[in-house]
Amino acid sequence: MGSIPTQITYTAFKGSKSGAIVETEITRDAIGPNEVLLENQYSGLCGTDEHFAHNDIVLGHEGVGIVKEIGRDVKSLKVGDRVGVGFVRGGCGYCTSCLTGYNWFCTESPNNYGSHDHNTATWSTHCVLPPTRLAKIPSSIPSEFAGPLMCAGQTVWLPLARTDVRPWHTVGVVGVGGLGHLAIQFASKMGCNVVVFSGTASKREEAFKLGASEFYTAEDLGKEGMKRHFVDNLLVTTSQLPDWSVYEPLLSNQSHIFPLTISASDISISAMTLVGREITTHGLCASTMTQVNQMLEFAARHKIRPMIEEFEMSESGIRDAMGRLEGGKLRYRAVLRVVR
Ligand SMILES: [Zn+2]
Ligand SMILES: [Zn+2]
Repeated sequence: MGSIPTQITYTAFKGSKSGAIVETEITRDAIGPNEVLLENQYSGLCGTDEHFAHNDIVLGHEGVGIVKEIGRDVKSLKVGDRVGVGFVRGGCGYCTSCLTGYNWFCTESPNNYGSHDHNTATWSTHCVLPPTRLAKIPSSIPSEFAGPLMCAGQTVWLPLARTDVRPWHTVGVVGVGGLGHLAIQFASKMGCNVVVFSGTASKREEAFKLGASEFYTAEDLGKEGMKRHFVDNLLVTTSQLPDWSVYEPLLSNQSHIFPLTISASDISISAMTLVGREITTHGLCASTMTQVNQMLEFAARHKIRPMIEEFEMSESGIRDAMGRLEGGKLRYRAVLRVVR
């Protein structure tokens, strides 16, 4: 057995004041007793990375990599395991939030992407993390598809795993993009009737292929004769929140609304609709580790895969990927391949 080196050096990609992505070399102490060194393989690009691109931090939070070293107290993983990384990375392990699986609310020793340990993330050749929130990837899911499941996948899984969405329900998905194209697949494989709402008719074919049974554009919604009161659960996956008055007539009584992205605007629904028709709006932010593992197992069993465009993990590769995301051209998730 070789001795564990006293220092680790790796290449990483950081944000900067101007928003340009900068390649950098990071040297840090060897891993601690309860830490894991990962050799990253791939990382997705998510809207949240764009938010942090103006900060001097290592970026990336939907990664997949191979365990290279484990600290002496790590029991849950071994060298060679292939694991996924999301935006929740740890917690104290003892507070009420950690004990119930909601580590991202940890108040004692939180470790979330973008707010803690800015030298480690998944846009890098390596990262150092506690084992707490590392998920073993089922062997049938190729690495290039695993990253996006760790953020986009677990986000759209939330309404299905944490609420009363049932197979006989009609699930409405607003937006066919990085989140929406996964939401359609998960809901349809759960047996739900999936109805897609898109700004553009160009995604109709793809939506049906992914498992939708109905497809409407914004124009359709305004037409006379449009169905009413038929959507039991509305999953809003667009980065900008919609005009809620357009969707109110579509919602069934006692239905549920799930805004799945964070945006600066308010959620405004008429009180007449909300109270009179007993409609519930849910704020859901992250999956517990149990739910992440269930999502991965479900994705493996039903062959749910993100549709990806692959880019090199380099300054120019990241620039290209971000350009396509900003331009709304991505079909549907960018994945960066680590170059060694
Ligand atoms: Zn994300
Ligand atoms: Zn805690």
